[in-house]
Amino acid sequence: MENILPVPQQSSKPGTSTGQQFWHSSDKTIDSYSPVDGKFIARVYASTRADYDRVVETAQAAFLQWRLVPAPKRGDIVRQMGDQFRLYKNDLGRLVSYEMGKSLQEGLGEVQEIIDICDFAVGQSRQLYGLTMHSERPAHRMYEQYHPLGVVGIISAFNFPVAVWSWNAMLAFVCGDVCIWKPSEKTPLTALACQQIIQDVLRNNDVPEGVSCLVTGGRDAGEWLARDPRVALVSATGSTRMGKAVGVAVAERMGRSLLELGGNNAIIVSPHADLDIAIPAIVFGAVGTAGQRCTTTRRLIVHESILPELRTRLARAYAQLHIGDPLEMGIHVGPLIDKEAVTNYQKAITEIRAAGGTFIVEPGVLDGTGYESGCYVKPCVAEARNEWPVVQRETFAPILYVMSYRTIDEAIALQNGVPQGLSSAIFTLNLREAEQFLCVAGSDCGIANVNIGTSGAEIGGAFGGEKETGGGRESGSDAWKAYMRRQTNTLNYGTTMPLAQGITFEL
Ligand code: NAD
Repeated sequence: MENILPVPQQSSKPGTSTGQQFWHSSDKTIDSYSPVDGKFIARVYASTRADYDRVVETAQAAFLQWRLVPAPKRGDIVRQMGDQFRLYKNDLGRLVSYEMGKSLQEGLGEVQEIIDICDFAVGQSRQLYGLTMHSERPAHRMYEQYHPLGVVGIISAFNFPVAVWSWNAMLAFVCGDVCIWKPSEKTPLTALACQQIIQDVLRNNDVPEGVSCLVTGGRDAGEWLARDPRVALVSATGSTRMGKAVGVAVAERMGRSLLELGGNNAIIVSPHADLDIAIPAIVFGAVGTAGQRCTTTRRLIVHESILPELRTRLARAYAQLHIGDPLEMGIHVGPLIDKEAVTNYQKAITEIRAAGGTFIVEPGVLDGTGYESGCYVKPCVAEARNEWPVVQRETFAPILYVMSYRTIDEAIALQNGVPQGLSSAIFTLNLREAEQFLCVAGSDCGIANVNIGTSGAEIGGAFGGEKETGGGRESGSDAWKAYMRRQTNTLNYGTTMPLAQGITFEL
């Protein structure tokens, strides 16, 4: 798959596509640089408003045909897409790592997520179930069915540059929808690669042009989708700031939105925890993807009796971390996405110190050989207080805040005491504590785990969070329902017209 691999200084690629065709109509471009070595990878032509309108019109026309294709047949096309991603897993995984900066293993893992959701969606294509109900009226049948929704806009973030698209698109495709993807302006090449990878499947199956579309650009292109009444659902993944803007714009036109926003995830470490399993989960959760996962562990709520031991073990574990080129084997921590992210990391460090925080593991920005891009930072661990503004917000970097608690009620209150509500975990072997954490008065997050960290998720469960995380659910369970419209049907096969609630209406 040579044509998707990064070739420095190669000619510019059009960033607008309706599936089988790619084009550009102006000289507006986006340059993609790798945070790994700071090198220019390639230039992509950004979509203009005219390109966008052409894409929406093509998508609308495609929807009229695609919705008529039986769902299991749509599922078979998604199955073929999954096979293509199996074929190009290595190439795409490397590109993800190089353009975004996550480790090769994580890059490959992200492509595996695409493959997994394709498999899930194939099964789902035969299970778009509605319920049947017993009517209160004689000789009547009542049931509900799910119909395709229309054009689905997908706005995605840089940190999962391809998986998030697939979680949405593969389900939307089997549901009979057509998709317009607006990827992050920081990772346009991985998006182009995905479109190219499925191109043959679209062609070989005579899928109407416009079922899988791509528009590239920055915030403005995302705003076009959010404000466009032709777009039935906008699924937006990114910062809470972005989600608030998109949520309002979509609600104003009575559209549907699915929001997957920032997290501020905590692990409670009880005195009954098995620290041998807790420590690797904490460290991976805090430093994996250089702290740039929505599910990254940002806060550690530790029982005061085990805090001294945890400090020592964390410091020992962090001392073993290798920071460097994420494409090399044995590297645990790659770069941040860009220098702006490094500045945000430094601002947070200054704020922690100003508030009186102390560091168990010291922070720092790396320079010199191997760190020329200027995007490499040291993962750090700070003792902090939950109410500090810096702890209350999500800094997208490997900073772990440690705080202590005395009672489980206090620990749960700390865990819930932030504006975000994505992922949470407790490490304990005590059944009562575990159940309390999961009960109605326990964690308020969309994801709550016991003896598993906060980071990552499995395809089979519904993924998403509460409060400022936006409330959306993607991927498994019944998340497919967001991509369809529900219709309740009542059918009278009798010879009388019984009115509801026994009302008589004499004529
Ligand atoms: P970001 O909000 O800067 O950008 C995300 C996307 O939104 C980009 O495509 C961007 O162009 C677009 N955008 C920005 N402002 C917009 C606006 N006003 N209207 C429409 N579109 C707009 O986020 P980022 O820095 O790329 O990603 C990091 C953030 O994403 C973190 O907060 C992280 O927690 C979150 N995230 C959440 C999930 C989840 O599932 N909850 C998953 C991945 C990332």
